[in-house]
Amino acid sequence: MPRTALITGASSGLGAEYARQLAARGVGLVLVARDRVALEAVAQEVGRHGVAVEVLAADLLVPRQLEKVVGRLEDPDRPIDMLVNNAGFGLPLSFARNSIDDEARHLALLVEVPMRLTHAALAPMLQRGSGRIVNIASVAGFIPRSTYGACKGWLISFSRWANGRYGGRGVTVTAVCPGFTHTSFHERMGLAPGQEGLPDWLWLDARDVVAESLRDVARGKSVSVPSLRYKLIVGLTKVLPAGLLASVGERGR
Ligand code: NAP
Repeated sequence: MPRTALITGASSGLGAEYARQLAARGVGLVLVARDRVALEAVAQEVGRHGVAVEVLAADLLVPRQLEKVVGRLEDPDRPIDMLVNNAGFGLPLSFARNSIDDEARHLALLVEVPMRLTHAALAPMLQRGSGRIVNIASVAGFIPRSTYGACKGWLISFSRWANGRYGGRGVTVTAVCPGFTHTSFHERMGLAPGQEGLPDWLWLDARDVVAESLRDVARGKSVSVPSLRYKLIVGLTKVLPAGLLASVGERGR
């Protein structure tokens, strides 16, 4: 079990749930997101487990604020044993209608930021010969689903490679691929509850996603797909014809 984990996007949803479950196991935390008030509420809640909790309010899309997080990961006096790259947001699937600046910010938060933070965390972890890097990707990374699927596909491919490259030196890298999960994600995209038009059985509970993924992380798996139903769906993506897969990818919004 790591001693200290840094979690991005810890102010809500999956990130806050990683904070809860890691704190319950005695892991100290550094919580990162933009909303300091929400981070402090999570810190207060998880602090009852008696672990040290730091709040590091930062907008990861602002270079000087991202640098603060990089600096925290590289601090030799306060080592971070686990990095959870979780912060993210979604855009409507219609790429041609989205503004290119929004697309560039989306790409930066889902790909460039986790790459930079992984790079910063990796050197001290390799020096110590141990560490866990957890990249929150998505089942969307296995199907054609606009730039969101492409960004998450990048994280899956990168994590697979990095786990093979660094796992033998004690640093494991896991891409966690949740399916649709109840968090603020869809609401923040401006969708009302139920507006995704998906059957209830497709929705996961963040507590189950986090618990199952942490078991896979502890085993050093390169890809974690929480829940049997989504494991089956990911299995199907490998055999379905490309045209059918593309129409599945358009579902949900
Ligand atoms: P969420 O509840 O909306 O949480 C997103 C988190 O990202 C928030 O803590 C938000 O905090 C943070 N964030 C957004 N922009 C940021 C920025 N510029 N700088 C720093 N932090 C930022 O959504 P969630 O579902 O938990 O999403 C977490 C991850 O899971 C994402 O990577 C998402 O793609 C992935 N995922 C979600 C689902 C799903 O169905 N929910 C499925 C598959 C994968 P602040 O607003 O305080 O900055």
